[in-house]
Amino acid sequence: MAYDTNNIFAKILRGEIPCIKLFEDEHTLAFMDIMPQAEGHALVIPKEAATTLFELSDAAAAACMATVRRIGNAQKKGLGAQGIVLMQLNGEAAGQTVPHFHIHVIPGSIADLRKPHAAVMADMAHLKAVAQRIIDAI
Ligand code: AMP
Repeated sequence: MAYDTNNIFAKILRGEIPCIKLFEDEHTLAFMDIMPQAEGHALVIPKEAATTLFELSDAAAAACMATVRRIGNAQKKGLGAQGIVLMQLNGEAAGQTVPHFHIHVIPGSIADLRKPHAAVMADMAHLKAVAQRIIDAI
């Protein structure tokens, strides 16, 4: 399927809609998920246009993993997370709702992921406060 340049993460990358940014480098952006499934739920995306892992270049995939490590370490240090869950959905058939490759970086345990996926909007002030604790630990 062709990449949809109007997907919400492409708009975030172009600065057309806001996000609660955690970290950015030349190849990646990390920000808070606005419908978190657990406290501190973050997303890491490549700047490269790719819908799923299967269109992403090896270089962009490696850049994403470096940023995932950075964010996960900051969640451990800043939020006291004992474990970090990574989730990555490929295609609508897998339940992917935003067609720009992304990795969910979720503090805690798979057993804590009781909130539904992409469903309940967080309180923005609370989300910003949690983000600041992660940012301070990067
Ligand atoms: P997926 O279903 O794997 O494609 O995940 C997409 C994720 O993006 C979900 O967890 C949503 O809660 C999240 N999401 C959707 N829109 C936004 C947005 N504007 N800013 C941050 N996260 C978002």
